[in-house]
Amino acid sequence: MSKEDCIFCKIANGVIPSATVYEDSICRVILDINPASKGHALIIPKEHFDNVYSMDADTASKIFTIATEVAKAQKAELNPDGLNIIQNNGEAAGQTVFHFHMHLVPRYINDTVNVTWKPGESDKTELEALSKALRKRI
Ligand code: AMP
Ligand code: ZN
Repeated sequence: MSKEDCIFCKIANGVIPSATVYEDSICRVILDINPASKGHALIIPKEHFDNVYSMDADTASKIFTIATEVAKAQKAELNPDGLNIIQNNGEAAGQTVFHFHMHLVPRYINDTVNVTWKPGESDKTELEALSKALRKRI
């Protein structure tokens, strides 16, 4: 899909209207049209990045700074019991819109949101080898 056809490029840049809760030169924050819970918000950069791998550090840092502000606004307005910040990359991870976005999902006791996994098992030697390999790449 070309960027001209990207729905989040259009939403972030105001070509398609959205329930906007914040906007600046870097991003737009909107309410998700199919919310996982009341107040589910999306932070969408105005520039097109397919996913986290292509995003520059400066934009990433600005997006997370905005996330802290949106989280506080949701807390003040909705008084949730918790909050999940989720950002999906790739189909295998559940990404359906291939323009980077960050989900802020307010959580309420006994809501129907499901963001869990079964804890796995680890091997100390394997963890040490993998942490060393990754450390070299950062
Ligand atoms: P993801 O699965 O991480 O790619 O999330 C995509 C999200 O975008 C989903 O939660 C959708 O409900 C949401 N979404 C898709 N189209 C729109 C739209 N036009 N306005 C608001 N949210 C949308
Ligand atoms: Zn886009």
